[in-house]
Amino acid sequence: RNDQLDQWDRDTFFHPSTHLGQFARGEAPNRVIRTASGVFIEDRDGNRLLDAFAGLYCVNAGYGRQEIAEAIAEQARELAYYHAYVGHGTEASITLAKMILDRAPTGMSKVYFGLGGSDANETNVKLVWYYNNVLGRPEKKKIISRWRGYHGSGLITGSLTGLELFHKKFDLPVEQVIHTEAPYYFRREDPNQSEDQFVAHCVAELEALIAREGADTIAAFIGEPVLGTGGIVPPPEGYWAAIQDVLRKHDILLIADEVVTGFGRLGSMFGSDHYGLEPDLITIAKGLTSAYAPLSGSIVGDRMWKVLEQGTDENGPIGHGWTYSAHPIGAAAGIANLQLIDDLNLMSNAGEVGAYLNRSMAEALGDHPNVGDVRGEGMLCAVEFVKDRDSRTFFDAADKIGPSVAAKLLEQDKVIARAMPQGDILGFAPPFCLSRDEADTVVAATRRAVETVLG
Ligand code: PLP
Repeated sequence: RNDQLDQWDRDTFFHPSTHLGQFARGEAPNRVIRTASGVFIEDRDGNRLLDAFAGLYCVNAGYGRQEIAEAIAEQARELAYYHAYVGHGTEASITLAKMILDRAPTGMSKVYFGLGGSDANETNVKLVWYYNNVLGRPEKKKIISRWRGYHGSGLITGSLTGLELFHKKFDLPVEQVIHTEAPYYFRREDPNQSEDQFVAHCVAELEALIAREGADTIAAFIGEPVLGTGGIVPPPEGYWAAIQDVLRKHDILLIADEVVTGFGRLGSMFGSDHYGLEPDLITIAKGLTSAYAPLSGSIVGDRMWKVLEQGTDENGPIGHGWTYSAHPIGAAAGIANLQLIDDLNLMSNAGEVGAYLNRSMAEALGDHPNVGDVRGEGMLCAVEFVKDRDSRTFFDAADKIGPSVAAKLLEQDKVIARAMPQGDILGFAPPFCLSRDEADTVVAATRRAVETVLG
């Protein structure tokens, strides 16, 4: 064991999401990952852990895929970099754009490449603003997001994110971003509401917000087909159809943030296909390369492209670009990854084994007095804890169960799940190659961890 690394880590490395209080007390956990294969990662002490969260729901194809590693190496040897500014491209980035559009829902026109989900959503907001400026309606600029939505950590994208943690002490959200209710049926205020009534309530909330702000000030609505970081919450039946009716009525664009759901996690190529969304922009990242290299994109729909395409010389080139946009190494990883997902039928495995995981989790935990909800879709699953099931009351923030169960799961059975940042929720989002046996292991270990923590 290299103790020097621990020292360097503590002295030099400011990790994302550092809990500064824990750091000051010397309690920051420190696991150094060395290698990985399939659904398992291995740390420097030789612990082999089943990663039931695929990193940060991104290593969709599974770890250790030599086909992707080879494609990256070959690209690096051949052409590590050239920029993608207008007039230039690489074989890899052009090929990947074509592959993405071949897989995209109907009505999509072009791909704008970035590096990660946050910058892709930044691009989306700028494209929406640009579009409304071209249309001569500069006052139509606000973006509606949902409480509990997660769309990134930048200034605009952190504002879009509807989680308090990402706002406080940063003076966010910025004034152009406004929030509406999340389609979170389990946490509805009125326990007697049916799903239909709850959808009607979400729609009424959205209509009220639009009326208050004025439709002529609102440019777009952004949402994840399934709320991810906010709690892994699939929408109630009919939610997206009803929301889209409202958006169409008020000429508000729809941005589908498919950073988690894109490229197969729900058992469909996109969440938009799964739930019948007709977006104007789709955000893609994580699953595009299965995180073998950073790459993201904004898929631009026909309606927007037709306006942008008319262009005028007066505006000159669109003033938006990244040095690493369409980076050839990311693009090579993307090509090999999408090919592998096709060749190994990983998307249908995500649908089938994901459904099995969700069923088994519900059977194993559904009757526990402190489990209020087991829910999911495809290879996404969540267990939500309650203090009392009948009255749907929750533990106080200081007594949350999720983090303790996640810690026990790791300690007892070496399974990684994620205690979601808001609420009392344990999340699972394994790689698509998870087998039924591995799903059984995850479920049995979770049951054991819940019983250890709660009895
Ligand atoms: N959008 C969604 C739905 C996400 O889940 C995430 C990250 O988890 C992002 C955007 C931001 O992506 P990144 O962390 O790559 O910037």
